[in-house]
Amino acid sequence: MFRQLVRGLLCAAGLFLLGSPHTALAQDEAAFDPEARLVELGITLPKPLNPVANYVNGVRTGNLIFTAGKGAKFADGFELHGKVGADVTIEEGYKGARQTAINQLAVLKDMLGNLNRVVRVVKVLGMVNSDPSFGDQPAVINGFSDLIVDVFGERGRHARSAVGMASLPRGQSIEIEMIVEVMDDAARVAGGSDSRQPLLMKYLGTAGWEITDGKVTVLVDPYISRLKYGGGGHPDDDRPDYERGATAVSDTVLINSIVTKADFILVHHGHYDHLGDVPYIARKTGAKVIGTETTMSILRAYGIPEEQLYAVGGGEDYQFENFSLRVLPSIHSALNEKHYHDSRRFDATTPLEAPLRIDQFIEGGSLMFLARFEGHDVLTMGSMNFLERELEGIHPDILLAGINGSRLGLYNYDERLLKVTGYPAVVIPTHWDNFRLPYGYSQQANIDRNLVPFTEAASTISPHSEVIIPVHLETIIIK
Ligand SMILES: [Zn+2]
Repeated sequence: MFRQLVRGLLCAAGLFLLGSPHTALAQDEAAFDPEARLVELGITLPKPLNPVANYVNGVRTGNLIFTAGKGAKFADGFELHGKVGADVTIEEGYKGARQTAINQLAVLKDMLGNLNRVVRVVKVLGMVNSDPSFGDQPAVINGFSDLIVDVFGERGRHARSAVGMASLPRGQSIEIEMIVEVMDDAARVAGGSDSRQPLLMKYLGTAGWEITDGKVTVLVDPYISRLKYGGGGHPDDDRPDYERGATAVSDTVLINSIVTKADFILVHHGHYDHLGDVPYIARKTGAKVIGTETTMSILRAYGIPEEQLYAVGGGEDYQFENFSLRVLPSIHSALNEKHYHDSRRFDATTPLEAPLRIDQFIEGGSLMFLARFEGHDVLTMGSMNFLERELEGIHPDILLAGINGSRLGLYNYDERLLKVTGYPAVVIPTHWDNFRLPYGYSQQANIDRNLVPFTEAASTISPHSEVIIPVHLETIIIK
């Protein structure tokens, strides 16, 4: 329920995309195959029923399809009639709603040719012909929603209204319509003819990412708990307010709902908004963690096994199975009006006892990563700073650019960064949001302050780069 609410809010916040010649946004689970799922469920889609009046089964505008209302007509011609709560039971209504989902899938299949072209199901309106005393419309329309999620997985989760009607045409019990986002035509062409694996990049907020090419799943600074600490929270957020000296606890329920697997976790530095959730995620996934010795020391304190820990200093270039990684020395954002400098380091001799306090998550030095996937090189940042000489000759096609206010204290940051990285084809701002706000809260202030000026600057400095503004928990597909 909570997740559905958050998704609804995110959906309302919408997507913010600047230029899109070869990318598309979508939910994750590209590997989830709705066509195969239908076969598993033993469902054969009927020929879509023709409209009974002067309208069409569905209208596509841009990347959205709006379908006309359909009812519970079964393959044998039977149609569910009567008022739910009087003539029709909830169970019968549920089955009718499920059949209505099959009829709507038939419309989509007819329009798209393949249900894999559905990016996500956006909105469902479920109407139930109801006895005046009946108030359980959601239980009926669940028959529709359950099948849609069963067929599309995460892509099937939708916003919904389930309402009662005094009557419906021909006395039918149910009528349901839906709005679906579909791939754009460019994506279809690229998907059909381009042998390059698409790269799926889900923004976890802060400097956090889940990146996968289908073979390997890499998390970057996966910070999900978004605790309210050290000030800067929202008055409507009634979660506990942590002091920096407090012991912080990861929101494991939220993490479990977002992170299901990881092969590698890359950690730029040890601050809590980068490393705080890594002990739990590393234990849960068994992923190999790559970071500084300070980061490794903190993970050791949490009992993460040695075989998962890869301490690096910057300069390493490692080949793993299906994935290679160059580690780049870097420097931290110029916090506190350039008065920030933290030379502390942890090592095997540092006495640390988990759970640590938030202020024990020290920087411990900063890194960047060049993560090479099949067909795509991603250069990652966890701070608003970089060592220019270390990036000479590093020309990724995707740059996760640290874009927060502190970069303004650096000399020609935007220009130097885009130039030294070879004006990447795709630039995605990272670490620009207010990470003390839970998912679903407006980030408009940070969008206005950080992203709008950057995208304007980037369009002049690097006019051929596509700047994509990421949305929390949405996946960007790079073709
Ligand atoms: Zn930091």
